Amino acid sequence: MSKQTIFTKIIAGDIPHHKIYEDESTFAFLDAEPVNPGHTLVVPKEPYQNIYEIPQDDFTKVMETVHRLAPKIKDGVSADGINIGINNEPAAGQEVMHLHVHIMPRFDSDSFSHWQGQDDYHDDVRGKEIAENIREEL
Ligand code: AMP
Repeated sequence: MSKQTIFTKIIAGDIPHHKIYEDESTFAFLDAEPVNPGHTLVVPKEPYQNIYEIPQDDFTKVMETVHRLAPKIKDGVSADGINIGINNEPAAGQEVMHLHVHIMPRFDSDSFSHWQGQDDYHDDVRGKEIAENIREEL
């Protein structure tokens, strides 16, 4: 896979960045527009676009790095909590088409709110149908 992304350029050292960690298959650096100080992106060195494209073994390696870094980032910025997320496809807010895991420190004082849940499964039929449709894909 030889596709270039802004993140492959960061990994190659061609774009200024603040590196946090690197191993054979993953790379982590500070997000340029952090939601809070310490907001870090963990990426596979191979520029897989998203969760659908990345092979399970490579994804496991990315998540091992996330697991390793999350508590260090929390301590490094004295955060009160951490959000971890992956945006897949523009509909979900993905802007850079190179899979990346956001590790976002949270503070009791940051007052961010989460998206609102919907009262969508108020009747059993709808929940049953949605769960069945998903299970059929397995
Ligand atoms: P997403 O919306 O999930 O695709 O997130 C892309 C993230 O990449 C955003 O949070 C951007 O701030 C971040 N980003 C884009 N360009 C750079 C860069 N050159 N260095 C660090 N972070 C970047």
